[in-house]
Amino acid sequence: LTTKLPKVGTTIFTVMSQLAAEHQAVNLGQGFPDFDVPARLVDALGRAMREGKNQYAPMTGIPALRQAIAAKTERCYGYRPDADAEITVVSGASEAIFDAVQAVVRPGEEVIVLDPCYDSYEPAIDLAGGRAVHVPLDPRTFAVDWDRVRAAVTPNTRLLMINSPHNPSGAMFDADDIARLGELLADTGIWLLSDEVYEHIVFDGRRHESVLRYPQLRERAFVVSSFGKTYHCTGWKIGYCIAPAALSAELRKVHQYNSFCSFAPAQWAFAEMIEAEPEHYEGLGAFYQAKRDRFRDQLLTTALKPLPVPGGYFQLVDYSGVSDLDDAAFCRWLTVDKGVAAIPLSPFYESPPAGQRLARLCFAKNEATLDAAIERLLRL
Ligand code: PMP
Ligand code: GLN
Repeated sequence: LTTKLPKVGTTIFTVMSQLAAEHQAVNLGQGFPDFDVPARLVDALGRAMREGKNQYAPMTGIPALRQAIAAKTERCYGYRPDADAEITVVSGASEAIFDAVQAVVRPGEEVIVLDPCYDSYEPAIDLAGGRAVHVPLDPRTFAVDWDRVRAAVTPNTRLLMINSPHNPSGAMFDADDIARLGELLADTGIWLLSDEVYEHIVFDGRRHESVLRYPQLRERAFVVSSFGKTYHCTGWKIGYCIAPAALSAELRKVHQYNSFCSFAPAQWAFAEMIEAEPEHYEGLGAFYQAKRDRFRDQLLTTALKPLPVPGGYFQLVDYSGVSDLDDAAFCRWLTVDKGVAAIPLSPFYESPPAGQRLARLCFAKNEATLDAAIERLLRL
C-alpha cells in the first residue's frame, strides 16, 4: 500500500489521552470539558429521540436549527446569513474544515496556514492534492506577521486558513489584524477559511473579531463553528459553516457525499437551546474566565510560567525553569512521571521554533480536576 498521507500518524490528542489513562494522570491534554452539558440540552435531546426525530435530517440541517443559527449570528455579529442558502449544519467543525478544503482546493494549489495550527488542516489539504504553505506566528505572542503572509502569496494560492481565538495559544485577532487581512485579500481570488470554534470563549472584555462582521471578508469566507465547544459536548460532533451561497453550494456537494446529514436529534436539541437560553453562550466568556484566572493563580505557585490567555480554553506554560527536554519528551515525562497530561506544541508546526519550551494545558475542567493537577505540579 502506498499511503496517501505519509506524514500522518495517530493524533497527539489520542496519544496523550491514552498515555494519561495508562498512567492515571490528570488529563489536561486533549481539549474537552469534564463537566456536564446544560440540563435543558440533554432533556431536549432525549425528548427529540422519544418524539421519533431519529431519521435522516435534511442534508443541510433542520430548518429550525439553521434559523436559530441565523438569528444568533445576527445578535452576535450584526449580520444575518440566509438560513437556506448560507448555513450548513455538519458533523463538527472538523467536517466543515474538511468539506470546505475539498470543495475549493484543486491539485497543485496552495493553502496558507499559520503555524502553530490545528492538526486537521494539513491532511485535508493533502487529500485535496493541494500544498500547505506554512507561515509561522510569533513564537512568543502568536501574533500574525502579515508581511510574511503576503510574501507567501503566489498566483497559485487558493485559500488562507485562520483561527481566532487560537488553538493552542489562545491568541486573538484584533481590528488591526482584520484590516491587514482585508488589504491582503482585496483583489485576489483567495478564499478564506475562518475557524471560529472558540468564538464565545473570550476574556477581559475583548471582542471576538468574527469575519462575519466584515462584508468584504465574509463574501469570500467559510466561517466554521462548533457546538461541541459552546455547549460542552465535544462528543456530539455537531458544527456548522456559514458561507456565501456559491461557496455553501460547493461545500454541500462534499457534505452530501461525506456524511449526507448530521445527527438529527441533536439538531432539534440545539435549535431549542439556542433560542431558549441565549444567556448560555453570552455567559461563556465569564464562565471560562473564572476558571482561567483561578488556574493561572495556582500555576504561579508552581515552577511553570503561564503565558497570557486572551481566549479559548487552553493555558500555555513555559517549562524552561523545570526542564530542558524538548516539548514532546517533556509532556511524556510530565504525564508518566508527574501524573499530569499536557499537549506539546511541536505537532502543530511544520518546523517548531528551536528551543521553544511550551506545553498546552486544558482548563475546561472542574475545580477538583484542576486542583488535583496543581497538587502534582507543585512537586515538579
Ligand atoms: N478547530 C479547532 C481550532 C479546534 O480546537 C477543534 C477542536 N479541538 C476543531 C476545529 C474541531 O472541532 P469539532 O470537535 O467540532 O470537530
Ligand atoms: N480539538 C481538541 C484539542 O485541541 C482535540 C480534538 C481531537 O482529539 N481530535 O485538544
